Amino acid sequence: MRIRTFDEYQQAYQYSVEDPEGFWGEVAQNFQWRKPWKKTLQWNFDEPNVQWYIGGKLNITENCLDRHLADKGDQPAIIWEPNDPSEPSVTLTYKMLHDQVCRFANVLKRNGVEKGDRVCIYMPMVPELAVAVLACARIGAVHSVVFGGFSAQSIADRINDAQCKVVVTSDGALRGNKTIPMKDTVDDALIACPSVKRVIVLTHTRTGVSMIKGRDVWWETEMKQVTADCSAEEMDAEDMLFILYTSGSTGKPKGVVHTCGGYMVYTAYTFQNVFQYEPGYVHFCTADIGWITGHSYIVYGPLANGATTLMFEGVPTWPDAGRFWDIVDKHKVDILYTAPTAIRSLMGFGLDYVKGHDLSSLKVLGSVGEPINAEAWHWYDDNIGKNRCPIVDTWWQTENGGILISPLAGITKTKPTYATLPLPGVQPVLVDENGAVIEGNGVSGNLCIKFPWPSIIRTTYGDHERCRQTYFSTYPGMYFTGDGCLRDEDGYYRITGRVDDVLNVSGHRIGTAEVENAINMHTGVVESAVVGYPHDIKGQGIYAYVITEADPEHEADLMRRDILATVSRIIGPIAKPDKIQFVTGLPKTRSGKIMRRILRKIAEGDTSNLGDTSTLLDPGVVEDIKAGALVSV
Ligand code: ATP
Ligand code: MG
Repeated sequence: MRIRTFDEYQQAYQYSVEDPEGFWGEVAQNFQWRKPWKKTLQWNFDEPNVQWYIGGKLNITENCLDRHLADKGDQPAIIWEPNDPSEPSVTLTYKMLHDQVCRFANVLKRNGVEKGDRVCIYMPMVPELAVAVLACARIGAVHSVVFGGFSAQSIADRINDAQCKVVVTSDGALRGNKTIPMKDTVDDALIACPSVKRVIVLTHTRTGVSMIKGRDVWWETEMKQVTADCSAEEMDAEDMLFILYTSGSTGKPKGVVHTCGGYMVYTAYTFQNVFQYEPGYVHFCTADIGWITGHSYIVYGPLANGATTLMFEGVPTWPDAGRFWDIVDKHKVDILYTAPTAIRSLMGFGLDYVKGHDLSSLKVLGSVGEPINAEAWHWYDDNIGKNRCPIVDTWWQTENGGILISPLAGITKTKPTYATLPLPGVQPVLVDENGAVIEGNGVSGNLCIKFPWPSIIRTTYGDHERCRQTYFSTYPGMYFTGDGCLRDEDGYYRITGRVDDVLNVSGHRIGTAEVENAINMHTGVVESAVVGYPHDIKGQGIYAYVITEADPEHEADLMRRDILATVSRIIGPIAKPDKIQFVTGLPKTRSGKIMRRILRKIAEGDTSNLGDTSTLLDPGVVEDIKAGALVSV
């Protein structure tokens, strides 16, 4: 299962393409199955209908917990770092985690949860969140984790879409110096959720909550009523493991469905190989478990490998912008996996916050979620990895279950802003607007995948047609990612942004990520977002929203000219923005991604209907941008 050299990568890749069933059959031998599968793969992308490990029986928690008990029982499974650094961190060994999971699985059963029932989990980043997720998997209930920052309306929409029977939540959450009520928000959501019969509430912040008789019960009280004896439910490889709603950068959130067998195999395989995980490593993924990154690379991938996974409850900028580095130092973190948005934000605070922290334990750095611009890549490499830690820029999506295109740490030669090469089993193709495959190197197009990998989306919950429409109908016979991509002369892949965001300026196709990358290289620029708008002559003009370190008010025109010069030099005059609006913030999803569709509406001067803004982090930012929009050309 483990790749150690570039030669081995090439061999594994070749094998995986020539004989996918042989390859993934071998990888799956590294897991514990109750019953072996009869056929490794059956698929078509028309319906679509993809099945891996057909007839195989397993329980993912036996692979993540039980099988480690004999030799790793006393090793840390989860290290929890609380919001407040002066409070003690908590370590759960594999034995302790197993015990907690079994107990909570019994609590779920006691409260009427049966195999196949959906359970909504809306919790802060505390160990009990991971416990609740695994407890669902233990008894075959389907978890739907909703990120703790979502509003009542968003929770209600997700609960109703999945028809959840039970909600697991907490009295409150701590984020920096704020206490956020969670149970209150759940109460508001539940006014419109008739399917919910029970709410289990964890005590965390000691925020006052109302407990409705007959519906609401306390986590702690329930845990006292049960034993730690809970055998795992036998699941079919293709039984549903979880539903997860996508981030909502581009539209109405979709309930992506993943199943037990393929998801387990693929997340464990990619965790081990991409990060080159070694036993004893401490893995710190800064995502929230409410996102796919947290599902696959905080919970399932690491635990299936018997690794130590670190969960952090707080925010990167509290008590100050050195918090990540403090955590790395304190827990001797080996692998740090974070997002470009976090790197850019911490960059903006300057190097003083990095100094004084010992980062020598770090071995591998990762990035995920958005294209990482060159400046952020180098800052991460120079100041955090000290030029000795490989950076893995991992490209993938909620719908993919695990990383698809990425370097293998220390094995694949990296190139800033490039996700580099496909992992074994992943067959990317670039296609043009007419669906014709673009062969060769030094080309760009729309990124599709032409063959299934084990953790590909199976359906969108309750609406299979939507799954077909969204991913499998644009280019018949292929999975369409929605992302634009460049394959350079070396065959390396670089994601250039979402296809909807690709600009067409005087007939030239330019990725938003490319222009942003160039703008961000300019001194004093913290972050930028670029969109197109209708332009009489060019077809599309380029509108750039730019955040600067200092207020550019009086020097604005000079700063604009300088930015244009930088873009001209880096990409060429064709990519020069027609309009530059200086802003103090950008509209982002709760997972930290720029919502370009809102910026596009503003640039087009059409602010009457901004579309679904339920996943927007800070609506105030949008109002400010609208007020300062540059309407005339
Ligand atoms: P929605 O599908 O609801 O619009 P979303 O696409 O933001 O939301 P995710 O599944 O979390 O939801 O994100 C996947 C997308 O993130 C990819 O399609 C790609 O655009 C972007 N992305 C993720 N990782 C990378 C990366 N390493 N480089 C470039 N882009 C990335
Ligand atoms: Mg998406």
